[in-house]
Amino acid sequence: MSKKVRHVLGISGGKDSAALAIYMKDRYPNLDIEYYTCDTGKELDETYQLIDNLEVYLGKKILRLQGAENSNLDPFDHFLEMYGGYLPSSNSRWCTKKLKLEPFEKFVGDDPVISYVGIRGDEDREGYISKKSTIQSIFPFRQNIWSEDVIAKVLANTTIPFLVENLALQPFSIRAERFEEVLAQPLSPSFTKPQKLKLLLDTNTRLFNQLAFQYLKTTNYPLANEAEFPLVENDEILVRDDIFKLLEVSGVGVPAYYKKVDFGVEDLKSQYSRSRSGCYFCFFQQKIEWVWLYEQHPELYAKAMEYEKAGYSWAQEETLEELIRPERIKAIKEEFIKRTERMAEKQKSPYLLDILEAEGEGCAACFI
Ligand code: SF4
Repeated sequence: MSKKVRHVLGISGGKDSAALAIYMKDRYPNLDIEYYTCDTGKELDETYQLIDNLEVYLGKKILRLQGAENSNLDPFDHFLEMYGGYLPSSNSRWCTKKLKLEPFEKFVGDDPVISYVGIRGDEDREGYISKKSTIQSIFPFRQNIWSEDVIAKVLANTTIPFLVENLALQPFSIRAERFEEVLAQPLSPSFTKPQKLKLLLDTNTRLFNQLAFQYLKTTNYPLANEAEFPLVENDEILVRDDIFKLLEVSGVGVPAYYKKVDFGVEDLKSQYSRSRSGCYFCFFQQKIEWVWLYEQHPELYAKAMEYEKAGYSWAQEETLEELIRPERIKAIKEEFIKRTERMAEKQKSPYLLDILEAEGEGCAACFI
């Protein structure tokens, strides 16, 4: 007997997952999606505001998941104490594990789960994929809605007979000769998986999705339990501008920390903002974002400095106290202005946020 599949969508507090929640409600109102957010207790107020606005739009509660839910400390502080004051870093990211991944995996248990992920059509990355085989990720904003592991199985040469046979069962009008030809061609060093995938998707995205779904029904993936899956009909690709439009038109709004703020140094002028959601002290932020925090939210910067009193620092090469020396702030701003000019020239993109994002390293579980 098929098990009941749960559909879940995690809200990180960033623009992409918020836009995805709006998109899914508008486009697939019949899917019963459970919305959740993993609260570290250290997000910016703007993030909590975004979540409140979204709840109003969705007409549904967004479940607040917390690590160490019975502790009298904020989740982050609870685990920091457990780790003896050792601050997380990109090499030791205990915060993501304890505050995001573990509460999520506890929330879904062993139920078969479809997890919708807000990676955009103009991004070239896969995002966080759970190691639990009961959790399957779907990417509605991309042309390819499937995860890499699914694609590897669907496009394996051994799957070709199954796909060709199933193609013959599809209504004639949606079959195309070209599609059939590509489908039957085995992968080889001169015909790679990404090439085959692109050709199939460009020729007929819906048909490819339909075949992938039929194939999944023969596996242990969560989707094998579903009689239908409306996203096989999805051939839209949403990019950055679409995300901003969705947020604005819905009335939910763009998270306030994305708003650009003017700053000057000597006779140079520029704008800065924060490029990601997540904890206000996140070690993934860039120097200019630390300066933004210091100048726009001095009280939070002071709190971030407090954490360094135990002897560890957020960044390896300098403490937050060193970072706000006037000559250091000036140097960070000058360097930022030069870098954005160089990048804008190179990428021909006028958007500061594109530049920050293109450079930004980060954690998919925290920032999507
Ligand atoms: S936002 Fe940064 S500090 Fe917070 S949990 Fe994620 S990676 Fe860790």
